[in-house]
This record gives sequence, C-alpha cells and structure tokens, in this order.
Amino acid sequence: MNRFTVLFFACSASLFGGSYTETLYPRWGQWLENTQTILEEKTESQDLIIFENPQFGRVFALDGAVQLTTADEPVYHEMMVHVPLLTHENPTSVLIIGGGDGGILRETLRHEGLKRIVLVEIDPSVIELSQKHLPSVSKGAFNDPRVEVVIDDGSKFVKNTKEKFDIILCDSTDPTGPAEVLFTSDFYKDCKKCLHKRGIFVNQNGVPFVQKDELILTWKNRSPHFKHVSYYLAPVPTYVGGSMAFGWASDKKYKPSLKKLQKRLSEIKGKMVYYTPAVHRSAFALPQFILDALEEKKD
Ligand code: SAM
Repeated sequence: MNRFTVLFFACSASLFGGSYTETLYPRWGQWLENTQTILEEKTESQDLIIFENPQFGRVFALDGAVQLTTADEPVYHEMMVHVPLLTHENPTSVLIIGGGDGGILRETLRHEGLKRIVLVEIDPSVIELSQKHLPSVSKGAFNDPRVEVVIDDGSKFVKNTKEKFDIILCDSTDPTGPAEVLFTSDFYKDCKKCLHKRGIFVNQNGVPFVQKDELILTWKNRSPHFKHVSYYLAPVPTYVGGSMAFGWASDKKYKPSLKKLQKRLSEIKGKMVYYTPAVHRSAFALPQFILDALEEKKD
C-alpha cells in the first residue's frame, strides 16, 4: 500500500470512523483505525478504551498504551505462562499480579496440575469490563473454582501475605502510575519471600529496543534478590518497537531439554498459537544490544 493510500485511510478514518493514537512514547507511536468504540471510560485509577480495528480485532488500551488486541494476545499470554509453567517440575500454585483482562489466567488454567491460582488486580473495572467486552480473552477463567481474585495493589499483597507460590506472573502495565511500584527492589524482595525454593518469577518487562531503561531497572532491582535473573523475548506486533521482553528470576538454574518440554507440553490440552518448545528455548537467546546494556550495568 503506497503512502498516499495510507494517508487517505488515516484521514478518512479520522474524518468518518475514528482513530486511536498510542501516547506511550512522546515522539513516535502507533496509530490504529478505530472503526467502532465499544467502551471508553475513566476507572478509579486509569483511562480505559476498547475499540474495533480491522487488522487486530478488538483493541484494549489503558492510559494511552495498548494492553492487548484479540489478534495477537495469544503470543504474549502463551509465552508469559507456558515458559515458566512448563519449566518448573510440578507447579501447583500460581500468583498473578495484574492481568485483569484474564488472558494470563486463561492460559494458566490449562495446566491441570495446578491447585490454586490467586489473581491480584488493583482495578476491579478492568476485570468487570474485560469479561463483558473481551469475553474471548478470559473465556470464563474467572469462574474456575481454583481461582481466587483479590482486589488490591500487588505490592501490598506480596508484602502482607504469608502464602508461598511456585510461580509469580506479574502481568502489569508499564512502570508508571499504579504499576510503578511493581518494578522496585522492595517488591522483588517481597516476591522472593512469596516463592517456594524452586519458584519462578516472570514479568512484563517492556520492549527493550525502545524501553531499555525498564530492562536496566529490573536487572538492578532484581539481581540482589535472585541468583538467576534473565530475559526472554517474543514478537507481539502491537507492543511496538521490536520484540517484547519477559523478565525471569529464580534461585534454581533451569535449562529444560527440548525433549522434556515436548513431554510437558503433551500434557496440556488444546492447540497453541505461538508457543513451541523450540521457540521457548530460543526465546532466551538475547541480541547483542541487550547483552551490552546489561553488561554496562553489571556493577
Ligand atoms: N499485557 C499487558 C501489558 O503487557 O501491558 C498488561 C495487561 S493487564 C490489563 C495490566 C493490569 O495491571 C491492569 O489491569 C492494571 O490495573 C494492573 N495493575 C497495574 N498496577 C497494579 C498494581 N500495583 N497491583 C495490581 N495490579 C496492577
């Protein structure tokens, strides 16, 4: 499609339909045609919009940043969940922080060996509105008897709970506003307290090519509390700027073989959209610019 056609669609969308411009980055960003606004409101803690886009399906954004689209959400949700859960020998309990849209919860529940999943979300409207307007994302996950939903700040929950988990998945917004506290050393110290010895922590760690500071921030704040801090990558088209990073932290060193991952995967019902054991292992291969960024900060 040439530039003029693109320009025509952009103008006509803003004239006749609508358009949504992400405000995550001050000097550049993605633009999405908005053919129908499903919902737009200010919740008690953030600005929320859900709208239709011809390329990505239903789009959900919070405070000017795309959280998910129904077209590419499986990439992110499968990689955040199945990489740690298929690596851990036999997880039975998972703590999800954030994740109010239910995508992480849906993928977590596919692991039938799990006995208890606690989801701690600061904004109840996200859960309520996602279930209503994005039903294909949570697919009824919030009604599973193994699930307990807690409305709280995740940092307060990990500080106060006496419970321990095998896995902690922090599916938060970026480190501004309510999520800023979820990228601090204090939070990681408390997460370590809430993990069993062989426990694994994974978080949404931004897009390193354009959010390198988030990588450095989590590297510095997590390294004092965990023996093994690393990252793995996946390309989520609407998390613009390159591959998305998932932060990994554990005390046990894990390096599951392809064979072992294939066997573990065979125990999961249903098809994957993105995850494969080979993708899992290769996702930990980091490009030079990330290795350099981490090297510079290894003081
Ligand atoms: N996958 C998305 C991404 O990569 O940006 C995140 C999806 S999910 C909608 C993010 C959730 O984190 C939001 O529902 C938000 O309310 C929640 N959140 C932000 N700060 C939080 C906190 N301190 N405690 C618990 N939940 C929080």
